[in-house]
Amino acid sequence: MSTEPIAADNAIPGATRVLAPENGYYGNYGGTFIPEILVPAFAELSAQFEAIKQDASFWQDYTALLTDYSGRPTPLTHADRLTAHFGRARIYVKREDLNHTGAHKLNNALGQAMLAKRMGKTRLIAETGAGQHGVATATVAAKLGMSATIYMGREDMERQYANVFWMKRLGAEVVAVDYGSRTLKDAINETLRDWVSSFETTHYLLGTASGAHPFPAIVSFFQSIIGIEAKEQVLRTAGRLPDRVYACVGGGSNALGAFQAFHPHDEVQLVGVEAGGQGRDSGKHASRLVYGEASPGIAQGYKTMFLQDRDGQMKDTYSIAAGLDYVGVSPILADLAERGRVRFEAATDAEVVEALQLVMRTEGLIPALESTHAFAGLFKHIEETSASEIVIVNMSGRGDKDIFNVAEGLRDEEWNGFIERKHQQYNG
Ligand SMILES: *Cc1c(COP(=O)(O)O)cnc(C)c1O
Repeated sequence: MSTEPIAADNAIPGATRVLAPENGYYGNYGGTFIPEILVPAFAELSAQFEAIKQDASFWQDYTALLTDYSGRPTPLTHADRLTAHFGRARIYVKREDLNHTGAHKLNNALGQAMLAKRMGKTRLIAETGAGQHGVATATVAAKLGMSATIYMGREDMERQYANVFWMKRLGAEVVAVDYGSRTLKDAINETLRDWVSSFETTHYLLGTASGAHPFPAIVSFFQSIIGIEAKEQVLRTAGRLPDRVYACVGGGSNALGAFQAFHPHDEVQLVGVEAGGQGRDSGKHASRLVYGEASPGIAQGYKTMFLQDRDGQMKDTYSIAAGLDYVGVSPILADLAERGRVRFEAATDAEVVEALQLVMRTEGLIPALESTHAFAGLFKHIEETSASEIVIVNMSGRGDKDIFNVAEGLRDEEWNGFIERKHQQYNG
């Protein structure tokens, strides 16, 4: 197989061309359900986004800053010991954990902050659930000399205090949201409320490939760098396209980032892995597409498959990985799933904890609990693959942030003792 024609459609910008929405819709999903007062803000953003997509110099500046500041391109690591462990498909790992701030989130935050600067904005606002996107936003605000306000549910602040600490130290204002369930969806509402009165100076830097159009398009455009690099790397090192690409799916940004470059190649299977939590019948999970409990609905500015009750009230979701714990899913992925182009799997907490230990011990890699879902999704079906196949797993982030959850999941007694001693030290 010649690599020439394959390499050619990597031409930038335009990686998202194949996923272009029609009137803001991807098949049955997407749209722009926003308050009247925000129509000008969305119109301005859409126009500027169209402009930068046509402007090769913007993409050049973006990738240059990623190289200089975040360490891109991230490697594609051949997981040879993990491959040998199963004796099946050859496994490669795309190393988004090596980005600055430890995950793929910086790709989007940096791109949108550059776009905001070009629009003359001086301030960034963002919602955050687990806090990772808040840290990425605070980081780029500092780097580009902008101010930042991060909205976070009070409940989430309690659960993810380390991220709150870093956001503040990086110079951002962190606003606790004290109503509703005090979690991500309330933080989203509060960020939109801020934007209504501030959009002349302020950009809303949304964190995943969800929300009202054009946000899914914008976020997946910036994240497409992942697959563009991975495709070039796999062609260079393995000499051909992979048979499968795996990624975990919260809102959908790292998955779309990894998938887009491979999307035109029908022979490449694209697999999204959701948070199966405590399993299908437990009621404690965040599986929108596999467990069959989600239904189409309109919330948070867009139409997608939501975990909701009969009255359209959002259900409580759960995952060992805070970043996958989301009631909706990217409208782009909902559409690709409906069309059969992306297959979905769910990995349970227990499968994830087991997969994490295997990856740590065979490869010396510590994937984030979110990213470990992608590995677990692969391991479930690896026996179906053959040694002549090639698989890429997108490792969206690094797992050292997850030390509290992992130690708890592994019931690590020595760690519990350490926490106990720290507690006593602070309490006299
Ligand atoms: C936030 C996060 C995710 C989930 O978000 P997506 O938009 O679905 O990519 C996955 N992995 C890591 C490491 C994250 O921080």
